[in-house]
Amino acid sequence: MTTTHPFDDDKLKEECGIFGVFGHKDATALTALGLHALQHRGQEATGIVAFDGKQFHSHRGLGHVGDNFGSEAVIARLPGRLAIGHNRYATTGDTILRNVQPLFAEFDFGGFAVGHNGNLTNAHQLRRGLVKKGCLFQSTTDTEVIVHLMAMAQGDVTERLIQALHQVEGAYSLVAIAQDKIIGVRDPLGVRPLVLGKLDDAWVLASETCAFDIIGAEYVREVEAGELVVLDKDGVRSIKPFVRAGQQRFCIFEFIYFARPDSIMEGTSVYEARKRIGAELARESAVAADVVIPVPDSGVPAAIGYAEESGIPFELGIIRNHYVGRTFIEPADHIRHLGVKLKHNANRAKIKGKRVILVDDSIVRGTTSKKIVEMVRSAGATEVHMRISSPPTTNSCFYGIDTPEREKLLAYQFDVEGMARFIGADSLSFVSINGLYRAMGLPSRNDERPQFCDACFTGDYPTALTDADGGSAGRQLTLLEIA
Ligand code: SF4
Repeated sequence: MTTTHPFDDDKLKEECGIFGVFGHKDATALTALGLHALQHRGQEATGIVAFDGKQFHSHRGLGHVGDNFGSEAVIARLPGRLAIGHNRYATTGDTILRNVQPLFAEFDFGGFAVGHNGNLTNAHQLRRGLVKKGCLFQSTTDTEVIVHLMAMAQGDVTERLIQALHQVEGAYSLVAIAQDKIIGVRDPLGVRPLVLGKLDDAWVLASETCAFDIIGAEYVREVEAGELVVLDKDGVRSIKPFVRAGQQRFCIFEFIYFARPDSIMEGTSVYEARKRIGAELARESAVAADVVIPVPDSGVPAAIGYAEESGIPFELGIIRNHYVGRTFIEPADHIRHLGVKLKHNANRAKIKGKRVILVDDSIVRGTTSKKIVEMVRSAGATEVHMRISSPPTTNSCFYGIDTPEREKLLAYQFDVEGMARFIGADSLSFVSINGLYRAMGLPSRNDERPQFCDACFTGDYPTALTDADGGSAGRQLTLLEIA
């Protein structure tokens, strides 16, 4: 059976990446490149909708961007100067084609397509109400709720979108295309990212700035929390229907792990932020050792920061095989335990006889950490000290990151000592929540008004969790679970 690589399941997964272009003759080709740069934000499906001035063209498919948009013939079938695109990672169940975005709908004002990064926390409740009113849903995504709410609203496309979004809760960054315009919008707290760029006379929207770099676009600014931008022939128009002054809660996990290190988020280099978190970790949890080794790739910048701050040499003591990340023939049960070695292998020459500090970005279930510690010990390490560049992940995310149920999170089951025993490390430390905020250039977390969303570490959710029944014990629900 061919399946998604089975040993990647011990990381939290970003659920979507979005991209849009207004006013470029190669809008679809640029969107495909932008989506390629955002592939880390969703690998299960991808889609592009383009508008040529008369009609919409769409291609959506399962798999990677290259699998779907790697040929000139496909790009040529999507002509137009406006295009939006989406990469998807599904929360649960099969990724089915009707859930692949951008979603498209015909309104009385014309066609409309939308791509969404985030998760609505009252989508079930809204959907139940809409179904009672006679709405027929085509997909099982929360995003379709927005489309139906727009159908029930009044006015032009922008007014309808604003009215619809006033009814939803949760996290959303959207790109939408409506004939003569591209619209970008971020939720009132700005949980998920969205940036605005320029390429010659064209305007570009993307989840991350790395998608601008690949097409040579210039970064202009963040779309603000609660802001809606309309890109049309007159340029960029900004409307701020959802702005709540002083209440931004950007996802701090983007800095720890989700975003690409070469992206700039909220004016901060993700790579530099990770190095600073590593340095905080070194100050907070020093230990005598011979070598600092990252768990690649995501642990690398924090390990560099740890090594620089501690003065302990940095070495690539674990080598990652980059060719197993896509699909793999699932191994038979009796050789499954070898699985971690498909992705990581110990560089024995740098480990044997050494006291090792291993640096990783997070521990989710702990299963991969346990195998990596075992691997490093088998390679001859005399001591293995695990250092984690995030606080313990004790709560599920409801804002567009795929997280296991809280009961399956190692940090929910054990205290730090218990976790260290589970993974088999001689010691285990996490950066503190205030250490994390210091690394972000702040004196500490403001408990009255936290500067970021950090709910997976603190349980302090910044919005109502209507669908989760007010509790945080579960995970974000898919609409497939509606009875
Ligand atoms: Fe990010 Fe965690 Fe908040 Fe989810 S709960 S948005 S992963 S900080």
